[in-house]
Amino acid sequence: MEKKAIRLKVWGCRGSHPTPGLKYVKYGGNTACVEVLTNPGEEKIIFDGGTGLGFLGIKMKRERNIVANIIESHIHQDHKFSIPHFFPLYVKGNEIKIWVTQADTESFEKAKKRKLDLEIITDFYNYPYHHSEFQSVPELKIMHDPSMHIGDYKVDTIRLEHFEGSNAYKVSRNGKSFIYAPDVSDISTNDEKTVEFCKGVDLIIWDSLYTAKEIAKALKFNVRSDKKHSSIESVIKLAHRAGIPRVIHFHHSPLRSDKRLTKLEKMAKRTAHELTGGKVKNKFARDGMIIEI
Ligand SMILES: [Zn+2]
Ligand SMILES: [Zn+2]
Repeated sequence: MEKKAIRLKVWGCRGSHPTPGLKYVKYGGNTACVEVLTNPGEEKIIFDGGTGLGFLGIKMKRERNIVANIIESHIHQDHKFSIPHFFPLYVKGNEIKIWVTQADTESFEKAKKRKLDLEIITDFYNYPYHHSEFQSVPELKIMHDPSMHIGDYKVDTIRLEHFEGSNAYKVSRNGKSFIYAPDVSDISTNDEKTVEFCKGVDLIIWDSLYTAKEIAKALKFNVRSDKKHSSIESVIKLAHRAGIPRVIHFHHSPLRSDKRLTKLEKMAKRTAHELTGGKVKNKFARDGMIIEI
């Protein structure tokens, strides 16, 4: 059997706020967290510290001397809520790096006129913990360049539109690659830079919070939803344009129950078939999903 180059686990795929409850069992209720399943002994690579990270931390509680990279798409609360709950912070001898990009620091400082530091990221004053309880003190790392390497994984980043901006990350290894872009406004067909960045990847995990109809309706009332998140249809079009064969729709609206998401997933598959003649295969992310590339 062909050895897969990249394996991922979704720990949280809900947008904006968690959705516990019986109506949200199938797709899950945790906010953004995706783990790259690296080999034992290799550095851990985790995208976003949403509530899914809390459960990943519990799974890791017996592991020792780990190096974990938590790479933030941006620092909205739904993407960093569980960083202070990450179990490995309370175990001695671990190395926890929390990554943001240079653009994050600039946009934060511009909007808030404050320095983006560890205290802001971990927001400790609003948790029942104190920094002194850390057994492994996290380090805030700034990705100054658009590329870096973690072990034999290459990570490239591009800045996308979403309020004050967010990062998409492209991860490549052994000739396979995927992009993680959980919060991004609709990519218009003219966005050449984004299309170029996406070309040639095997899979995208992409913000699909809205439908095209919802965005159009909001625009009618002058609510600029299109400046916040993407529609399912626009992600399919982007994949088709950039020649990407697989899409994982991500950052589901907290307003959507399992019943609604099941219907929308069927609609998304139908749309992909109609728009791309079957060239783009798509699925909705769900908590616990394993993705092999
Ligand atoms: Zn979000
Ligand atoms: Zn956001």
